[in-house]
Amino acid sequence: MVPRGTELVPSTWDRRDPLGEQDLEVVPFLVHRYPDRALLLATDRCASYCRFCTRKRWVGQGPAPGPDELDAALAYVAQHQGIREVIVSGGDALMLADDKLEAMLARLRDIAHLDVVRLATRMLTFAPTRVTRELLAVLRAHLDVPGAPALYLLSHFNHPRELAPAARAAIGALVDAGVPVLNQTVLLRGINDDRATLVELLRALTRLRARPYYLHQCDLAAGTEAFRVALDDAQALYGSLRGELSGLSIPTFVIDVPGGLGKVSMGPDVVVREEDDAVVLRGFRGGTARYPKR
Ligand code: SF4
Repeated sequence: MVPRGTELVPSTWDRRDPLGEQDLEVVPFLVHRYPDRALLLATDRCASYCRFCTRKRWVGQGPAPGPDELDAALAYVAQHQGIREVIVSGGDALMLADDKLEAMLARLRDIAHLDVVRLATRMLTFAPTRVTRELLAVLRAHLDVPGAPALYLLSHFNHPRELAPAARAAIGALVDAGVPVLNQTVLLRGINDDRATLVELLRALTRLRARPYYLHQCDLAAGTEAFRVALDDAQALYGSLRGELSGLSIPTFVIDVPGGLGKVSMGPDVVVREEDDAVVLRGFRGGTARYPKR
């Protein structure tokens, strides 16, 4: 959260909009990149602001979407039957007041082709007391409506020290209320780019029932070069988690390909070589074995 002078040093890789979202904004505040998903930028506000934020060009600075723009965004989703999932983000979805969130969920329920609504929030880290009885009642009321889209909460924890007692309680309350929690983590140089820290974080999240979902290589947002881990080091670190952690605790390591080309998984290269009828695979202890191609 604390600004550093290094952010002012320009890098040749810097991009104002690393994910090319502005080109994919089909109507204001709605990004439609993948055929079956749409990203609703429901607010530009967060409870605190991460220096490495991929949307720092806009987050915390406005303009915020007004009711007419949200209407237009939801109308677009309603008109496109291929969209099965809406990710309510920003900014932070839980910056919406309970009544606004309730109204948004009701509007999304009216769109019959939606299977999933995801609420993306870092509030469990910054302000876990946001998970009040009233908020849980809003979420539970949505889940109680027959045929309502499944609701997932996408949390964002980067370090075990962010899992304060109140954060742990908030995760537990959400899961107990029937809202599955998935977690995303951004790999940050000097903060969580060591095996012990990541293992502690991923184990703790799993124990708390917040399933580790994505480990992100830090995007190329302007001023974030000092946060980025060299790609070789990042892949080696990710590879070292295999064997140490069960599959339940290992998120998918991804890079969002610049220019709006979407996420790609950057797991360790386990194929040592290809033969005519087999591939030679390397296991987590370094041993190799052939596996048939068909
Ligand atoms: S909470 Fe999310 S949207 Fe807000 S500043 Fe941090 S990374 Fe960006």
